[in-house]
Amino acid sequence: MNVEIFVTDKAGLQKFYEAIIARNETWAPVEKFGKFDFKRVSSLGECDPDSPIATTRSAKPLFFPRSAKIMKYTADSTGTRVKETDEDPFTAKRVILGMKHCDARSLQVLDKVYNWDYIDNDYQKRRQNTVVISTRCDKAETHCFCTSLDYDVENLDAMDVLIVNGTEGKVHITARTEKGDAFLKENLDPASCILHPVSDEELKKQYQAFAASFRLKMNYKEINEKLSKIFDSPEFEDVSANCISCNTCAFVCPTCHCFKISDERVKDTGVRYKSYDSCNNGYFTLMAGGHNPRPVKYRRWRQRALHKFVYYKERFGENLCVGCGKCAVSCPVNISIFEVVNQVASNEVV
Ligand code: SF4
Ligand code: SF4
Repeated sequence: MNVEIFVTDKAGLQKFYEAIIARNETWAPVEKFGKFDFKRVSSLGECDPDSPIATTRSAKPLFFPRSAKIMKYTADSTGTRVKETDEDPFTAKRVILGMKHCDARSLQVLDKVYNWDYIDNDYQKRRQNTVVISTRCDKAETHCFCTSLDYDVENLDAMDVLIVNGTEGKVHITARTEKGDAFLKENLDPASCILHPVSDEELKKQYQAFAASFRLKMNYKEINEKLSKIFDSPEFEDVSANCISCNTCAFVCPTCHCFKISDERVKDTGVRYKSYDSCNNGYFTLMAGGHNPRPVKYRRWRQRALHKFVYYKERFGENLCVGCGKCAVSCPVNISIFEVVNQVASNEVV
């Protein structure tokens, strides 16, 4: 694919960021105690869009909030009445700076489920109103394995604008979608850049250096194939033995999308919430009659692994995992999905 590549330097990039923050509602990685998270920012000094460390949590809450109030109601002896519906804080036009490729890529995975049997209009609105600006990592972190999972250097439309550090202090800025193209026209000062209308060759070169920095590599097609045959593998008990079912892995994961609906009611007034849930939660599949098909954690971990590498793939054609490693970084007992699926697949029962 031939794209227009704007070439600037670090100073030009800083000016670009400053212009974006001055003109737009902007969210970017903000550091606290050595960890980064997406926060709304009003100056470049508050954030680090080029942080070499990925955010601990993904940008998912900006599209799928952790706990959203979906309605208020009153209920008394005369019946139940809805008072107000969804007060969505995330429908304004906004820009996200510094999303890593895996995080941006996860939105394409979520798009499939949110456009499936039920169209989630709030999610769609948030997606349409957001410009995603992604800075390609220069180096993999310990738990990253995104290059093993469909990180396609030729298909970079997961983000609207891609920023890549090139050679000799050069920075390449490219629009990857029409939205990104319109955004660059409004926010990038061409006087600070050289227009470089050739090919992605330099992007590819940087990609090769980046890909060589990965410690973790897997053949996901082999994993898909093997996991699809091992539902009864005893390995699931071993890999889940230390899990404390805290659900952290699902909450930080950019692709996990399970939620629960709960009501909080005081006297006649109630609020209904849509909040994150997780298949690692022991009550997740508890039915009204008391039956629970996944009362033990190995069954829940089996569901997690197979949903990510078998069931989602069968339904939507791709893995429900982008290899970001956030689950492994945050798990209090050091369980890594990379190790889980590799261990189970390599002990395939035939
Ligand atoms: S974060 Fe770790 S301990 Fe918590 S549910 Fe996930 S795998 Fe289990
Ligand atoms: S399962 Fe883990 S590695 Fe895969 S997308 Fe979720 S957080 Fe990232």
